[in-house]
Amino acid sequence: MGTVYLVGAGPGDPELITLKAWKLIQKADLIVYDSLAPAELLREAPEGCELVHVGKRAGQHSAAQEEINRILVEGGQKYGTVIRLKGGDPFVFGRGGEEVLALQAAGVPYELVPGVTSAVAVPENAGIPVTHRKMARSFHVITGHTADEDLDYSTYAALEGTLVFLMGLSALPRISAGLLSGGMAAATPAAVVSRGFSTRQRVCRAPLSEIAEKSKAEHMEAPAIIVVGSCAELDFRYRAPFCVTGSDTFFARLKRAMGGDAGMLSHLMRIRLSVRDEGKDQLRQAFSRIEEFGWVVFTSANAVTMCEEIAKEDGYDMSRLNGLKFGAIGPGTAERLESLVGHVDLVPETYTSDALGEALAKNVSGEKILIIRSNSGRQEMFAILDRAGADYEKVRLYEAEGELLTAPAEIGRAEVLVFASASGVENLFRAAEQAGVEMGDMRFVCIGDATAEALRKRGLEPEFVTYPHTAEEMARRLKGLKLGKQTSE
Ligand code: SAH
Repeated sequence: MGTVYLVGAGPGDPELITLKAWKLIQKADLIVYDSLAPAELLREAPEGCELVHVGKRAGQHSAAQEEINRILVEGGQKYGTVIRLKGGDPFVFGRGGEEVLALQAAGVPYELVPGVTSAVAVPENAGIPVTHRKMARSFHVITGHTADEDLDYSTYAALEGTLVFLMGLSALPRISAGLLSGGMAAATPAAVVSRGFSTRQRVCRAPLSEIAEKSKAEHMEAPAIIVVGSCAELDFRYRAPFCVTGSDTFFARLKRAMGGDAGMLSHLMRIRLSVRDEGKDQLRQAFSRIEEFGWVVFTSANAVTMCEEIAKEDGYDMSRLNGLKFGAIGPGTAERLESLVGHVDLVPETYTSDALGEALAKNVSGEKILIIRSNSGRQEMFAILDRAGADYEKVRLYEAEGELLTAPAEIGRAEVLVFASASGVENLFRAAEQAGVEMGDMRFVCIGDATAEALRKRGLEPEFVTYPHTAEEMARRLKGLKLGKQTSE
């Protein structure tokens, strides 16, 4: 006869399991788990360990409780270490008690291993404390899922502490209506935290009278926890003062350069550059008759790198570029270009595409110019060249896409927004606009003039612009920046 361990798997983050549970999993013979148990934990099971899933999955019913009880009893009789792994804590709405009764009846030894319950941990992960001095002296964990459709939620309205509803998302309209009819104020803060601890965690906050509608409009999904009470409007999450828009590579370099202060950074928007198929064709086309051109001009270091990669891929004869003159928008691009072709013949005095256009218009007489740039960006440069009657061809080589890594409302809470490129500025402002976030009063810093130009176009002035255009220089400047209060709500 073995032992059946009723084990709490914690609220969803695999690291929030207890040490005791962790050790047990590593020597388990059989693990019976439900859907809320993090999958990463199961990978810790030893080879040969049997894994049985008994939880609900979309469109599927969970195994009947009697069936689970039977698996546990038989498992205990057959194996040494049997783990019943349950989300959160086994005794918080987990039907752990019923499993205990079945094991007792069959005379199977068992042990209880508590876990971190989602009732406290999921609100906490959204910055919501279930108790707070002078705000809430108690908290009440209530099931929102009950066979009794007529359950009267108004009885909970009289409780003074924080109300925490589990399994309540689909009953939210009835829950809030019940609390309101029980006398709770319409303005009582409420929050729904969906898919806590996952990358898809979302928080929806609203007064009690509006929470059901807002949660529905924002498509909050189960599993979710509903919090009602004054604590629900608190947000005690740490907010890094420097919110960065840039590529993964840039963010990693900046973090490294910040050293011990890396915790002051958060990655707000990831910028991903990709070569456009059409742009690649345009480039190949132009390079196949490169002798037509007198100049090749780049408006970003990325364009140089991509060009180099494509040329390499095609086995392009780089000696065909000998004798050409090269232009760069600024020192960062010039540096990259110099290492590729050995010389740069034109960099404008100010590092903007307009200035580049002016400089070309002045210095290039009659020779054809090949301009390699991104798909977005300012078009003014071409108007300048047109006015000067310059002969040019453009390759729109790549595009930059922005992926917001936090909730849109977080943009407005950043203390200092850090931009690594003009495309970053464009993508972030587009996201802010969609989220209705006002950017007028915010603080900005950026790398290079082309980036600063994108801000100025919006009538905004960066606090500083770094030269050289490196993450290391940005880190040095950030460290010297004076910060105000941590959160600006
Ligand atoms: N024994 C578990 C609760 C089981 S009831 C515990 O102690 O945490 C299942 C309910 O828990 C879900 O309907 C949801 O309300 C809540 N829940 C569990 N994990 C959650 C998570 N990661 N995010 C949001 N809600 C969660």
